[in-house]
Amino acid sequence: MSHAYHHMCGCAACCRHERNEERREESIDALVADWNRGDDAKRREAEEWTAGSFEGEHYSEVTLALDELHRLGATPAVIEKLHRLAKVESAALQEKLREMAEAEIDRGMAA
Ligand SMILES: [Zn+2]
Repeated sequence: MSHAYHHMCGCAACCRHERNEERREESIDALVADWNRGDDAKRREAEEWTAGSFEGEHYSEVTLALDELHRLGATPAVIEKLHRLAKVESAALQEKLREMAEAEIDRGMAA
């Protein structure tokens, strides 16, 4: 007997679906972690996708923060500013890496 998936339904078909979804998420997490550990090519690919995707103001802030880093050194204020900008850059890059990993895992599952 099969029916549309119900969350927490408990029947064999729905449990299998839940296990598959869980495995898919774990595979995606593992692949992203793997790429973050050492795959510079994948991170560069993600960077190409996200390059230029921020507002102009963001790039101005990055340039000014780097100018301060060079002139003033790594003062707490400069590091704080760079860290704030890094957080924004990293979120976009990691989101793209995750999309790439999802596509790769789903391709692998379909094959
Ligand atoms: Zn069910």
